[in-house]
Parts: sequence; C-alpha cells; structure tokens
Amino acid sequence: MTQLPASTTTIAIVGCGGLGVPAAWTLALAGATQLILIDDDVVEVSNLHRQILYDTAVVGQPKPLALAAALQARVPNLDIQVRQGCLTADTLGDLLAGCEAVVEGSDDATSKFLVNDWAVAHPRRRYASIAAAIGRRGQWMTVSPESACYRCLFEEPPPPAHLATCQVAGVIGPVVGQVGALAARSLWSVLNGQADMAHGALVRLSPRGLLRTPVQIAGDCRCGRGAPC
Ligand SMILES: [Zn+2]
Repeated sequence: MTQLPASTTTIAIVGCGGLGVPAAWTLALAGATQLILIDDDVVEVSNLHRQILYDTAVVGQPKPLALAAALQARVPNLDIQVRQGCLTADTLGDLLAGCEAVVEGSDDATSKFLVNDWAVAHPRRRYASIAAAIGRRGQWMTVSPESACYRCLFEEPPPPAHLATCQVAGVIGPVVGQVGALAARSLWSVLNGQADMAHGALVRLSPRGLLRTPVQIAGDCRCGRGAPC
C-alpha cells in the first residue's frame, strides 16, 4: 500500500487544548495544508499557561475558532475547518467526515478509543496519534493499518472514577506542549512513510526522559488483525 502524502492529507485535531494547540501548530509549520479543528469547549483564563496560542483577548471564545484564527495569522494559506462538538460514537461520523488522519488530544479517554477504532477499522487508510498528559507525565502512540492499536495495549477505557483529570491532578504546561508537538511529529512522520518511535509503540515522557514500549498486535484485540491467541 502507498502512504498518504502528508502535505495533502486532511488532518483533524480532536481537542483544541493543551495537547491540541501545539499539535496543530506543529502540523501547520510542518507543511500541512488542511486541518479540521474539533472541540466543544471555550477558552478559559486557567488554560492560558499551557494553551499557548490563546491570550486574554480570546477568553470565552470557542477553542476551535480561537485556534483557527491564531493559526491563520501565522500560516495564511492553511485551509482550516472548524467543527464545534464533542466526539462520541454518535458524532464521530460527522466530526471526522473528510479527514484521513487525527491527533487525539482531548481529555476524554473514550474519545481516544473511538479515534483508534476509526483509524484501524476504516476500509481506507487512516492514521492517528493518540496523546494524553497529566501532572509531569505524558504519553502518545501512533497507529496505522499496519501497526498495533491502542486497544491491543489498553483494551478498554478505564472507568471514569479511575481517571485523574487536569483539573484535579494539574498539568505542567511544557509537558503538554512537548507531548502534543511530539504526537503531531510522529503522525507527520508516519504519513510520510518514515520510521517513528511511536508508530505501533507507546512512548511515555516523564521527568526521567522518554520510555518506548513496543506493542504487538494482540490476537484477541477487537481490531481483529492479530492471530488468535
Ligand atoms: Zn488492536
């Protein structure tokens, strides 16, 4: 199979917050020409330390609109679509219509599995970088039709009661900045047919550095691409 040409791939950013902002900026500067920005949230003052393309002038504005304006000011020729909404099983078809690759940077674990399943189960070639960060730690994994998927490793979203949130646990601005940018870079590399440390592997960023864990396609994964155990 041939790779998608990265510069003409329509890439969606799911979650225009601490991870999505640097991811979108990275892709825009790398040469992406078509981005779809998805979020249902508005910019708050408490976001500004880590969502670095926003300032006090856009507090209260929908995040995808504010991010589109910030990106357009820096990369005028970028084709940007704004889609306000929360990614669910019911909204996925509409929100991801027309896109071929996704950076998932929302704070919703279910959304990460929905994007994973969209990428690996789609009849056409689809790609996704799935990122998360909390406190001083972050992680991302890039999936493609050839690679292990997020479910091969995690199987199901954890119960909501088991999840810490940025509101409760806090998050360090540079951590989400790094993870968002690296997740975007990994997606860009894979779209260009280049090797990348996160392709089919979970990469964790901690105060000790980067730890890469390769993931095998699981025989019992719902993605259905492994040999039965
Ligand atoms: Zn799988």
